[in-house]
Amino acid sequence: MEGRRVAVGWAARDPAGVLSPYSFTLRDMGPGDVMLRVLYCGLDHTDVHQMRNEIHMTIYPLVPGHEVVGEVMEAGKDVEGRFKVGEIVGVGCIVGSCGECICCKSNREQYCSKMVFTYNGIDVDGQPTRGGFASTMIVYHKFVVHIPKKLAPEQAAPLLCAGVTAYSPLKHFCGEEKGLKGGVLGLGGVGHVGVLIAKAMGHHVTVISSSNKKREEALEHLGADAYIVSNDAREMDGAVGSLDFILDTIPAVHSINSYLSLLKPDGKLLIVGVAPQDLQVSTTALILGRKTIAGSFIGSIADTQEVLNFWEEKELKSMIETVKMDYVNKAVERMEKNDVRYRFVLDVHGSDLS
Ligand code: NAP
Ligand code: ZN
Repeated sequence: MEGRRVAVGWAARDPAGVLSPYSFTLRDMGPGDVMLRVLYCGLDHTDVHQMRNEIHMTIYPLVPGHEVVGEVMEAGKDVEGRFKVGEIVGVGCIVGSCGECICCKSNREQYCSKMVFTYNGIDVDGQPTRGGFASTMIVYHKFVVHIPKKLAPEQAAPLLCAGVTAYSPLKHFCGEEKGLKGGVLGLGGVGHVGVLIAKAMGHHVTVISSSNKKREEALEHLGADAYIVSNDAREMDGAVGSLDFILDTIPAVHSINSYLSLLKPDGKLLIVGVAPQDLQVSTTALILGRKTIAGSFIGSIADTQEVLNFWEEKELKSMIETVKMDYVNKAVERMEKNDVRYRFVLDVHGSDLS
């Protein structure tokens, strides 16, 4: 214990999920580790699911945060060549995996059965991992990515989870194809970067939203090609059988059968949103048209680096609202009321964490 560094952050203590200041001791640095000073961290809807124990796996106190952008304070002796002190780096949703299994050996370590979550996992020292709602983190270098020089650190934050969550299934299921007709269901943190990425990949993008409120922004600022309100029967009917894929980001129970009807034959419903209860599917909606429902969890570390580089190359810009840590509970409340365009990013280093 002696000589270990203390980190200050904010934690949830129970399923009420309210965050408040919390300090804890970091593990020792290993030769393959990187210590980073957290600069910014995105607020993802999964953080809220976890703070409230909605995925039934929360270990309290819980320090959330898995869209972490930081500055390297120290690099272990084995990684000094890879990471330099002062470099801006990122950490996403996972910080460990076995390194041996078929998933780890094929750039799919997010599906390794021994994968360790950035927070609410078990670290190498047997203690819970803690995320980016804190001053400092120690992370094994394989789970740290380089933030391209042209990206502002706060802009990069949402890419580390939301960005790669949209990028990875689009790449995996649509490959190099261009000009597909795609839908993005739910225009929140993941959805808005999904629109930007799908457009930059060369697809035609329809936003499917629960209200009309985001129509102008979606079409004018995010560059979507079309916009449908999901409870407008006329608009939904007009789009039946028109889409090759839908990226479903809804964080709640919803009826997927009406969305399956929007797909063309062989169309794919790519689910990334976490529903707290099971969804119901009509088998005929699936069978008639040979449709696919697939799930996808974030992306690999290689995908994460790729989406950051893609973002820089295509000169994309996420829409974020940067706030201080003492605003975080309010930010959660506003996110739940669907009142954020489109991602809160916490200015962790610029906040008084005590
Ligand atoms: P978010 O910012 O809250 O956005 C979700 C969007 O879904 C909202 O903006 C809203 O868009 C729509 N929506 C919200 N509640 C709804 C409801 N009850 N019925 C219908 N539509 C609703 O959330 P996020 O951070 O983008 O995360 C979205 C989901 O993806 C969460 O469940 C999160 O846990 C999950 N996630 C999964 C992964 C993965 O690896 N698979 C990674 C990151 C996040 P409109 O206003 O357009 O309707
Ligand atoms: Zn593995």
